[in-house]
Amino acid sequence: MNLLANKVAIVTGGSRGIGEGIVRLFAGNGANVAFTYLSSSTKADAIAEELSATGVKVKAYQCDAGDYAATEQFAAAVIKDFGTVDICVNNAGISKDNLLLRLSAEQWDDVMQANLKSLYNLTKQVIKPMMKARAGSIINLSSIVGLKGNAGQSAYAASKAGIIGFTKSIAQELGSRNIRCNAIAPGFIETDMTHYLKDGDAAQKWAEKIPLGRLGTTEDIAQAALFLASDHSRYITGQVLSVCGGMNM
Ligand code: NAP
Repeated sequence: MNLLANKVAIVTGGSRGIGEGIVRLFAGNGANVAFTYLSSSTKADAIAEELSATGVKVKAYQCDAGDYAATEQFAAAVIKDFGTVDICVNNAGISKDNLLLRLSAEQWDDVMQANLKSLYNLTKQVIKPMMKARAGSIINLSSIVGLKGNAGQSAYAASKAGIIGFTKSIAQELGSRNIRCNAIAPGFIETDMTHYLKDGDAAQKWAEKIPLGRLGTTEDIAQAALFLASDHSRYITGQVLSVCGGMNM
């Protein structure tokens, strides 16, 4: 299927994990993709080269999503290289888990900067070309932890809950310009971020608590992002789509 033929998509944190899955599925659906990474330059360049050989344009950019000036420069480079932005996936994120008593102010700030300020930084840039085109789809990666909370993840949960408030507000601000803004709330997805699940039988124990009986894959999340990016979701905005195998029910 070519659900995103000729669209230009930005994906932050596309060098690994869920972001990489989204970059691959979007490119496979005909989108030209500009994606960012923080430090994985070799991996990012290899993905861009591999996907560019399939006939779409895919380019990797080093850009700290938490740094306003860097995102401003990145967005300007994308406009220069690709002409416009139709889709923006705010995916880059980190987790620094600790019980509140042990959570340092620096850890709190790092998580907020990478996970929440990053949305302000880049969304502010991409809405300019989207307003001009009177069309756009913005997709933000929240988490079921942002809906339910989780002991030891107060900073991460607060940042992911903040993403939901941001998403719903932008949907209301920009709906009249035909710009949609939705969030995805993944459950446990097998990536570097959840590497601790590989210890012992942790993954198996979590899988037993998930109605669909398994952890999620990056492809599971990418398929949800594809739906929200495409015209198949054209009357959907301001929503949070949980992709978690039913574990938040
Ligand atoms: P991951 O495997 O750790 O990959 C993180 C990606 O984000 C990498 O490409 C990394 O780039 C990039 N990144 C990190 N900080 C960045 C920054 N400041 N600026 C630009 N890029 C940055 O993470 P993931 O598991 O795929 O998670 C992706 C998103 O889904 C995150 O927002 C996460 O909170 C959310 N999520 C994940 C899960 C899960 O179970 N995995 C569940 C719920 C929500 P480098 O490769 O250069 O480091």
